[in-house]
Amino acid sequence: MSAITVAHMQDTCLPISIGGAYRASDGPEIDCYDPTTGQVWCRISDCTDAEVDAAVTAAGAAMRDPVWRDITQSQRGLLMQRLAEIPEQNIDRIAEIEVKDNGKLLREMRALAQALPVGLRYFAGMADKIEGTTIPVNKPDMLNFTVREALGVIGVIIPWNSPLYMMVRAIAPALACGNTVVVKPSEHASAGAVAFAEMVTEAGFPDGVFNVVTGYGHSAGNALITHPGIAKIDFTGGPATGRVIARNAADTLTPSSLELGGKSPHVVCDDADLDAAANGVVAGIFAAAGQTCVAGSRCFVQETVYEEVVARIVEKARAIKIGDPRRDDVQLGPLALWSQVEKVAEFVESAKSQGATLAFGGGRPEGLGDGWYVEPTVFTDVTNDMRIAREEIFGPVLAILKFSDEDDLLQQANDSDFALASGIWTQNINRALRFMRRIEAGMVWINTYRSPSVMSPVGGFKASGYGKHNGFAAIEEYSRIKTVVIDYSGAQQDAFVMRINK
Ligand code: NAD
Repeated sequence: MSAITVAHMQDTCLPISIGGAYRASDGPEIDCYDPTTGQVWCRISDCTDAEVDAAVTAAGAAMRDPVWRDITQSQRGLLMQRLAEIPEQNIDRIAEIEVKDNGKLLREMRALAQALPVGLRYFAGMADKIEGTTIPVNKPDMLNFTVREALGVIGVIIPWNSPLYMMVRAIAPALACGNTVVVKPSEHASAGAVAFAEMVTEAGFPDGVFNVVTGYGHSAGNALITHPGIAKIDFTGGPATGRVIARNAADTLTPSSLELGGKSPHVVCDDADLDAAANGVVAGIFAAAGQTCVAGSRCFVQETVYEEVVARIVEKARAIKIGDPRRDDVQLGPLALWSQVEKVAEFVESAKSQGATLAFGGGRPEGLGDGWYVEPTVFTDVTNDMRIAREEIFGPVLAILKFSDEDDLLQQANDSDFALASGIWTQNINRALRFMRRIEAGMVWINTYRSPSVMSPVGGFKASGYGKHNGFAAIEEYSRIKTVVIDYSGAQQDAFVMRINK
């Protein structure tokens, strides 16, 4: 049974994990804050280039070692099944560690911890079903087939909002395909990944298959993504960092997948069940204090029901209980970073100065000590040209816009740099499906919101990035196709003419 708990990590500098063993880093220390108190609770190291190199080298060596290279697909799946049992037996411990780091609701982090074994088992089951195809190439006595094989060392970079959930959705398909990984978690929330390394070792994975280096993006992150030993970069984070990753990846021709931010439209039509819709909109933005990439931060309400829907949303926002994220009755915890509190305040001022109406919130609640809390905030009379409608805030701020008909809705909703998620509340299936076809978004939720599944591909378009996690699509992201041609005719080939299909 694994052992690292919040108590073990409190006031210590967390180790890194290279080649199956924990070790202290030589890099300078970084403070990690508990958002409920605003105080430092542990520290991590900003790994040196030499340590990142050691991690990639260990992962590369594991890739070539017959212990991992020649393991059967079913054995790989079994190892992953064994790994799944460990987080499953440690849901509370994992959730407590992550709440300490990012301040999200304990209930939410428990749900995300419960998703870890589900994700690991889903991809464990795929490990021995990764197949090539046989291709009838119109040539007699010729066999043409493909094999799918691992890429190599995957560099996984994850954000702070749902650290282990984001990490497992990357590493599970990567391991199922036979790759090895080096993870660089966010400097704001590394504790979960560090604790997870112990679980991978306990499950019996060969040394070097899973490695964790910590540190800032510009130092340890940059050393990882520019390392020549990396076969693919799997990045989840903000669009500005995504652009840096893509530029670096272009220089080294390293494939990358980028899961970036969003400004997702969440639509209420006049024929919707208005109470269910208002609930959905409130949960879509205020769950996780708006710190989710798929937050429904742009709410479009049809003009005929605008006043009524706004009233319901404001009433529900007013009823939200703010406080310690560990309490079961609390619905809104603190923001994970002080810089996010400042960012929200800046957007509140910008929205006011651009002419939006502050319908609720906009400030910081009283009586919650030094925690990084902000009120759920609702702006009405928002137009699509305002900053509050165009830029990702990543906080509990809802912008409500009006639309007249479907053409007006689609024109406004698609007028965005982002295209990650979307949602629509309507009882008219024709309308819902027309929206589904015309909306530019990687995900469309109809009469529901924030309902992901490990079995269903997730990923955005436009400035929300490219590449897919989850589902069989993820296997395609972490494997490559090799084509094999066999001539079994026994005939001599004309060496000077290409044997092309005629
Ligand atoms: P961020 O881009 O600031 O950081 C993400 C990670 O990238 C961190 O680990 C950071 O250290 C690293 N990094 C930063 N600069 C780097 C560099 N030059 N080279 C290599 N690595 C570098 O994002 P964040 O603030 O941690 O997370 C919030 C963002 O993540 C939001 O935009 C949110 O929408 C997005 N996000 C997207 C998804 C998705 O699935 N699409 C999921 C969660 C979060």
